[in-house]
Amino acid sequence: MKIQKIEEEINQLKIHLAFLEKCLVEIQQNCDHHFKRNQYYETCIKCNKVNVLYY
Ligand SMILES: [Zn+2]
Repeated sequence: MKIQKIEEEINQLKIHLAFLEKCLVEIQQNCDHHFKRNQYYETCIKCNKVNVLYY
C-alpha cells in the first residue's frame, strides 16, 4: 500500500467516524432516557448513554 493511499483512507474513515459520532449524539440528545443504575454510573438501556455518578 502506498503512503498516499493509506492517508487517503485514514481521512475518509475520520470523516465517516465524525459522521457516526454526530449521529450518536443526535440520537442520545433526542432519547427519552431510561437509565439503569449501577454503583458508579448509570446507563440508558435505549441509547447506551452513560452518566458517571461518582468520581
Ligand atoms: Zn437514552
